[in-house]
Amino acid sequence: MKLKFTGYQPVKGNVVSFSFKPETPLSWQPGQYMHYVLPHPDSDDRGTERWFTNSAAPSEGKVMVSTRIDDAHGSSFKRALVALRPGDEVEADGPEGDFTVEDESQQYIFVAGGIGITPFRSILTEAHAQGKQLNVDLLYANRDEDIPFKEQLESYAADNPNLIIEYFMGSNKLGAETILVVNNLSSSAQAVELDLKAYKGNILVEMFGRNVFPRIGDLPYLLTMGPYQFYWFKIRRI
Ligand SMILES: Cc1cc2nc3c(=O)[nH]c(=O)nc-3n(C[C@H](O)[C@H](O)[C@H](O)COP(=O)(O)OP(=O)(O)OC[C@H]3O[C@@H](n4cnc5c(N)ncnc54)[C@H](O)[C@@H]3O)c2cc1C
Repeated sequence: MKLKFTGYQPVKGNVVSFSFKPETPLSWQPGQYMHYVLPHPDSDDRGTERWFTNSAAPSEGKVMVSTRIDDAHGSSFKRALVALRPGDEVEADGPEGDFTVEDESQQYIFVAGGIGITPFRSILTEAHAQGKQLNVDLLYANRDEDIPFKEQLESYAADNPNLIIEYFMGSNKLGAETILVVNNLSSSAQAVELDLKAYKGNILVEMFGRNVFPRIGDLPYLLTMGPYQFYWFKIRRI
């Protein structure tokens, strides 16, 4: 199928979104990708074909490729993408892929690294457009503060209390997450005071119900525990 290039929009840092209009109506599921062929002179050894997620949501009515453009060291394919002018046509096929949300009532954990956010951008944009409140914990790692689509995703989270976004950057890596497990081994209820001063200012998020517990302050952190009860908390920096 032919896609007509309609323009590009800078996203954040060196990420750019390229928009296309399909020549015939195209339907796709948020999270699916397409295969692109972009013949160009002096192609490097990576060739003229690529796969890209359609980062647009179906409700946006366009096909969108969001990708990093590295001017100095990028591939000839990306240079050909940047050289497109409105009205130019590219060849694409698809959509394909089952990286989609099948059951909207389920709880999901989305894990994205950098530009790997594109399928989630499509899924969450569509859910927002449809007024659907997906249950999602989005764990989003990026190399620096230039986080693609951050503001947009946060605007969705502002409208959906079931969408929780956590960022991981620099030393704040996924593996460095702090989990607090509190277990009452007694057959009767007990109260416990925890010394969490080292985490003052953070909040506790109960990992199964995802309820937010009070912020950690100067005082010992008081919990009441039923018989054999346990809690798993994420200690969340805010
Ligand atoms: C299903 C699927 C979905 C995808 N969705 C997306 C998406 O939404 N967005 C996205 O950005 N990517 C996506 N990709 C990956 C995409 O297809 C490209 O592989 C990726 O963007 C890298 O592009 P590029 O090879 O043109 O390299 P570039 O992005 O130009 O460069 C990447 C790195 O390779 C180096 N490099 C570039 N050219 C050469 C060369 N000739 N020799 C040696 N090193 C070189 C660069 O210095 C840079 O470090 C997807 C892939 C699949 C399979």
